[in-house]
Amino acid sequence: MASKRALITGITGQDGSYMAEFLLEKGYQVIGMIRRSSTINFERIHHIQERLTLVQGDLLDQASLIDILSVHRPHEVYNLAAQSFVQTSWNQPVFTGEVTGLGVTRLLDAIRLIDSDIRFYQASSSEMFGKVREVPQTEVTSFYPRSPYGVAKVYGHWITVNYRESYGLFAVSGICFNHESPRRGQEFVTRKIARAAAMIKLGKEKELRLGNLESQRDWGFAPDYVRGMWLMLQQDKPDDFVMATGRTHSVGRFVELAFEMVGLDYRPYVVQDPQFMRPADVDLLDDHVNQRLVVLALLLTILSAVTLVMWRYHRRDYASPRRTGRRI
Ligand code: NAP
Repeated sequence: MASKRALITGITGQDGSYMAEFLLEKGYQVIGMIRRSSTINFERIHHIQERLTLVQGDLLDQASLIDILSVHRPHEVYNLAAQSFVQTSWNQPVFTGEVTGLGVTRLLDAIRLIDSDIRFYQASSSEMFGKVREVPQTEVTSFYPRSPYGVAKVYGHWITVNYRESYGLFAVSGICFNHESPRRGQEFVTRKIARAAAMIKLGKEKELRLGNLESQRDWGFAPDYVRGMWLMLQQDKPDDFVMATGRTHSVGRFVELAFEMVGLDYRPYVVQDPQFMRPADVDLLDDHVNQRLVVLALLLTILSAVTLVMWRYHRRDYASPRRTGRRI
């Protein structure tokens, strides 16, 4: 049988790069959508670049999406592109809505027009639960987003459900709790903490400025999550799924662990800075791994494993002037 083709939007991002590796291993032909920029931004995919078909397109531009689908005819589409940073969504709420919300409709509508047999994955977020209506949260918990990012993701979720119900598309919304890795953007808190611990240990930085240390998050490991996303598209029927580790930890605990790993007490180095506080924070996000999700839950990891992987990466990256080129 000819190999399956998959289109990944957001292939230059954390999840997109892991998804590309995962699908290549499975024998897929991988088409990655990249947006034009004045500098090349392939740091996360340069090690597999020759095995990918990279095409230019943008979630803001529907014609580019239609064109990509009609030329490359993927069997599966993973929509991992977004303006994904919550803090930025308060500074750029309209742009966030255009990309993270309406961008989903542009892609779904392109699928409806070109090939309604394409299986579609939408990267939804636990940020949709925001001011939580029940603990633990499940696939049927109502949403109360607390940021423009969360609001845009709620739109993306419901338009995915709507296209499934209106047009019979195999459209799946994966409601993922936080997942981290050494490839996480440097502005995200886990990466910021792991990097700072390494830099302070090496004497290159003196302090780490953070927002609310009490914020609780459920952190998993990104490569486990992309496998879960793929599994969602292999089910017999399209549905929505929550994906999480089932454990929450505070930002403060993550800091403590990261500094412990480099043999430091974090207290003299960490400064709480109001500029990193969210105007409205989400409540304790807790999840529920139900019977349906046992298969996904088995794949998930715990906080200390994530911290360890990130620390190893940073020690190598910053301690040595020569990069090894090995990917984590
Ligand atoms: P990420 O590292 O920030 O990657 C975002 C990707 O989207 C980048 O490749 C970016 O391209 C691309 N992009 C942004 N605007 C675009 C546009 N207008 N058109 C086309 N591409 C565009 O995000 P991630 O952590 O991999 O997350 C993947 C998805 O899962 C996102 O939708 C995110 O919101 C969602 N999610 C993530 C988590 C998590 O914990 N990581 C949890 C729940 C949901 P450039 O490289 O050109 O900027």
